[in-house]
Amino acid sequence: MNFSEIKSLESKVVMQTYSREDVLLTHGEGCYLFDDQDRKYLDLTSGIGVNCLGHNHPVLVNALQDQVSKLMHCSNIFYNEPMVLAAKHLVESTGMSRMFFANTGAEANEGMIKLARKYSSDRYGKHRFKILSLVQSFHGRTMMTLTATGQDKFHQYFYPFPEGFDYVIANDIESFKEKLDETVCCVVMEMIQGEGGVLPLEKEFVQEAVRLCQEKDVLVAIDEVQTGIGRTGSLFCYEQYDIEPDIVTMAKGLGGGVVIGGFLVNKKCADVLIPGTHGSTFGGNPLSTRAAVTVLDIVDQPEFLQSVKEKGDYFMKGLRSISSRNIKVVRGKGLMIGVIVDPDKRASYIRQLREHGVLALTAGKDAIRLLPPLIITKQEIDIAVEAFREVFS
Ligand SMILES: *Cc1c(COP(=O)(O)O)cnc(C)c1O
Repeated sequence: MNFSEIKSLESKVVMQTYSREDVLLTHGEGCYLFDDQDRKYLDLTSGIGVNCLGHNHPVLVNALQDQVSKLMHCSNIFYNEPMVLAAKHLVESTGMSRMFFANTGAEANEGMIKLARKYSSDRYGKHRFKILSLVQSFHGRTMMTLTATGQDKFHQYFYPFPEGFDYVIANDIESFKEKLDETVCCVVMEMIQGEGGVLPLEKEFVQEAVRLCQEKDVLVAIDEVQTGIGRTGSLFCYEQYDIEPDIVTMAKGLGGGVVIGGFLVNKKCADVLIPGTHGSTFGGNPLSTRAAVTVLDIVDQPEFLQSVKEKGDYFMKGLRSISSRNIKVVRGKGLMIGVIVDPDKRASYIRQLREHGVLALTAGKDAIRLLPPLIITKQEIDIAVEAFREVFS
């Protein structure tokens, strides 16, 4: 089929939940994607923070080809080695106690909410079930995680929403204290709000919030679905906030393109979920966990993480050097970058960047969001900055 045939068929047979960019991608290589006309694009999207090793990474491809030919799936009624190795890496690297494997970010957060509520009901009874999240947050699209998402535009149509959620203004410790009453069992935060607009939390706020939670045995869950797996220059972003969370959820980058998600818990939460309380048919399958083992082996190395930090600083410095009234601010951490622009012009900027061979994302109401593969080189960053310079001058 050619592109126009594919487009027209898509509009008939695929549910119209996305307004797509006008590009048909066929393959990728490193940080580049190619369309049906063999046009080449520098990929600053990574499939929304997923393809952390870029496209067609030889080590990941080899590992997956090997795993596909051995065993892709066997269900959780049996043991498999890649699952145990992936959990071992995550546990040892973070000092947490146990890992649960699911498939997506929403599912990871859903499991986190279940665990937090059971932890609290085991110890304090039924009345203590409230989940506090932050305004502008994003936690997924299941009913629970939509409700945890602190954006009114998501709280429509699907009534009734589950009860037991409330929202705090990010970086406002007074509002936090007010809401942290005896009905709260867990607080969930993204260290940098991704979908919300690349909005980093302040360290003082996070540390004080965690301290207040610990005083009351309220669990602290960090949603690292977007910020995790090296994206901000440490395996998880919370490490840069010097806190010790109880639960860490992850997905996107963990499989380098293979569907996987899950959550880590500390010692205190290690034995809350027991047989019969939670599970997943696909979660922990040997294909996705082999991908995770391979990704973690590459990404979770001091030199690799340091390079993410340096390349992020280099990228932001380049973007800040563009003198244009139309770039309001450049912010972020590591290779999670927001370029803040006039909301009315943003779609046109994204289109112009694409015409200059660069693919970028949006976030919030006014951010152009950049989540390049973590393997991007300085030369590729130079190419990206040049494209921004041409579009914005
Ligand atoms: C993308 C994202 C999710 C949802 O992940 P899915 O895999 O789409 O379910 C949850 N939390 C954060 C912070 C995200 O960026």
